[in-house]
Amino acid sequence: MTYQAPVDDIMQALKSVAGLDELIERGLVGEIDEATIRAVIEEAGKFGAEVLDPLSAPGDKCGSKLINGKVETPPGWRDAYQRFAAGGWASLSAAEEWGGQNLPAIVATVAGEIWNSANMGFGLCPLLTLGAIDAIEAEGSASLKQTYLPKMVAGEWSGTMNLTEPHAGSDLSQLKTRAVKQADGTYRLFGTKIFITYGDHELTENIIHLVLARLPDAPSGTRGISLFLVPKLLVNADGTLGAPNDVVCAGLEHKLGIHASPTCVMKYGEKGEGALGYLVGEENRGLNVMFIMMNAARLAVGMQGVAVAERATQRALSYAKERRQGRSANSTGAEMAPIIEHADIRRSLMTMKALTQAARAICLVTARETDVARRAKDAAERAAALNRVALLTPVAKAFATDIGCEVASIGVQVHGGMGFIEETGAAQHYRDARILPIYEGTNGIQAMDLVGRKLPLDGGKVVTDYIADLNRTVEEVRASNRREFGRMGERLKDAVAALAEATRFIGATLGRDPDSAMAAAVPYLRLFGLAAGGVYLAKGALAAARNGAGNGHGAQPIAVARFFAEALATAAPGLKDSVVDGAAALVLSPDTLAQ
Ligand SMILES: Cc1cc2nc3c(=O)[nH]c(=O)nc-3n(C[C@H](O)[C@H](O)[C@H](O)COP(=O)(O)OP(=O)(O)OC[C@H]3O[C@@H](n4cnc5c(N)ncnc54)[C@H](O)[C@@H]3O)c2cc1C
Repeated sequence: MTYQAPVDDIMQALKSVAGLDELIERGLVGEIDEATIRAVIEEAGKFGAEVLDPLSAPGDKCGSKLINGKVETPPGWRDAYQRFAAGGWASLSAAEEWGGQNLPAIVATVAGEIWNSANMGFGLCPLLTLGAIDAIEAEGSASLKQTYLPKMVAGEWSGTMNLTEPHAGSDLSQLKTRAVKQADGTYRLFGTKIFITYGDHELTENIIHLVLARLPDAPSGTRGISLFLVPKLLVNADGTLGAPNDVVCAGLEHKLGIHASPTCVMKYGEKGEGALGYLVGEENRGLNVMFIMMNAARLAVGMQGVAVAERATQRALSYAKERRQGRSANSTGAEMAPIIEHADIRRSLMTMKALTQAARAICLVTARETDVARRAKDAAERAAALNRVALLTPVAKAFATDIGCEVASIGVQVHGGMGFIEETGAAQHYRDARILPIYEGTNGIQAMDLVGRKLPLDGGKVVTDYIADLNRTVEEVRASNRREFGRMGERLKDAVAALAEATRFIGATLGRDPDSAMAAAVPYLRLFGLAAGGVYLAKGALAAARNGAGNGHGAQPIAVARFFAEALATAAPGLKDSVVDGAAALVLSPDTLAQ
């Protein structure tokens, strides 16, 4: 079953939820118009369907391999990557100064969905390169920018992100990789990084590693971490490639999913002299720079959740139309009914669609705010948008990747036994999706970030303003009084009220009892995602109603929004109770829990 980019759904979300018309009118997405955006998405969809999708299942079977110290990606990947770079897809959002196309974040985010729906193992390579480009562009010296950005933007060199070490995962304060300053101002790095995505491969002629390390006299903890650019091959003064740097891939991990994406153990300074590196930003302020990369990457990983959910939904829908079992309530003849006619399968498919579209909406609103934060003329508007990006990024990452796993799991279920058998492809989505809540900061860490750092932003005003915005849409839905909206308005009112109450509880608890606030973090984030996702889908329904939604695709936004509000957002009040009572319910101490 070939992937088809959901161009209509994406355009509808861009217009009704991300406010595309307003962004275009105010010049916040550059010179581009709606027709061009649609054309870019359609072309990306064609590339995804024709070039990347056919490589996904064979790539999963074959995996990347470490042969004589070098990583080889599956057959066909190098050619596909070269076509990807030649098509200009590596540089959509990069600045024109470095050869990029300066397209808005909303377009790059949508393109990311398409690459990852078509082939998640492939999509990770450009995802990390884009993050590295952002970090170098923001904090690299003029010479680093001149030397590295044009090649990375052109897709000729790729980028990686090297944070994790065996004893330092979520807690980066423990990292031990060392950097020693040289007389000429460069640095030599020594240490081991694990789990490095695309740490080595043959898709590009050079690989640019961004590596967190500690200087000898650095303060302990996160305030003593610096960021270095370490090329795989050294770059000569004239820009040509020189000798190999002292960095090698010492091993590849064997994983549950994304087999084609090489997950590498990287050794720096094994030969003795140390890997040559260049400081990015200031000494001991590396984590701040890495956060530039991580915030962009967190949204992109959220979009991977949407991507895998979309792909799993398409596959399940196609199977449910073909597979016949039993007779449905509406069956008349003797023939077995396609399973899509059974109420429980329709419920499953609607759940898949609704969760996918809600998560897409949350991610696209985050991307929209990124564009406003970059391009608005008014400084206050830029600052407000930046705060909203900060608030929404952990929700986009964690809600969208959690639902990516859930939707992929429902997809297996819709296939019955065949879902467990590899040949249908449903199992691959389930396996691939499982990494998403773990990397780029686990979803538990995202929830703690939301509760501990984002809710207190601007004295709590950022989140209360956001909830007030959600309530405005709820009131619009209620005032519209449309029969086909069912109880959407009431259910969303309850969901947003639950979010407001849970937010007040966290606000009152965080300072005096942080452990209780943290115990509530995961259900709080889920509640946030359900309320926000439900309201965004309702915006789509309102727009469809205004446009005189008829039958067929035009009516889908209303049906999906109503289902989300009446069947899924109803969990919100229960989640609010989990937030408020959650810590008290954790009655077992670590010792008794482990007995
Ligand atoms: C396939 C793959 C690709 C990856 N790619 C990269 C990459 O390119 N670059 C890179 O640097 N890293 C990469 N990683 C590493 C990834 O980011 C880490 O695995 C992740 O951040 C979690 O760290 P950890 O595995 O050490 O788990 P731990 O930090 O040991 O966490 C274990 C559990 O404890 C929880 N936990 C930890 N601390 C706390 C706390 N303070 N409060 C509450 N709960 C807590 C976590 O949420 C988690 O559930 C990759 C990992 C994988 C598997």
